[in-house]
Amino acid sequence: MEKEIFLENSYQTSCKTFIKEINENKVILNQTVFYPTGGGQPFDTGVIEQGDHEVEVVKVKREQGEIVHYVQNVKNLTLGEATAHIDWDRRYRFMRYHTLLHVIAGHLYNKFGALATSNEIYEDNR
Ligand SMILES: [Zn+2]
Repeated sequence: MEKEIFLENSYQTSCKTFIKEINENKVILNQTVFYPTGGGQPFDTGVIEQGDHEVEVVKVKREQGEIVHYVQNVKNLTLGEATAHIDWDRRYRFMRYHTLLHVIAGHLYNKFGALATSNEIYEDNR
């Protein structure tokens, strides 16, 4: 299983990694900073950099316990060392909204006894 760096440090925006598996447009790394969606917070986007190449990560999903990075084009990637970079502006915006929703939910509970059972954050242009 990949090491999930975002669990230890949600402010880390990139990491050295190793491409373990490439399958069609899906890439599996040995460790990642990409958040795969959860708790109402969407996945990160960003790039995987290898040598002179950079491929765009368009979607990240947890599948059968693995974090799968969907990339635009695998043709420049090979198994081996790489660097993962997330789009920090996007992630930080989602983190702040996520925290805000907890603050609002806490307030609604304290003031009215109302329980928030779930929430979902997404980009407006969807
Ligand atoms: Zn939460």
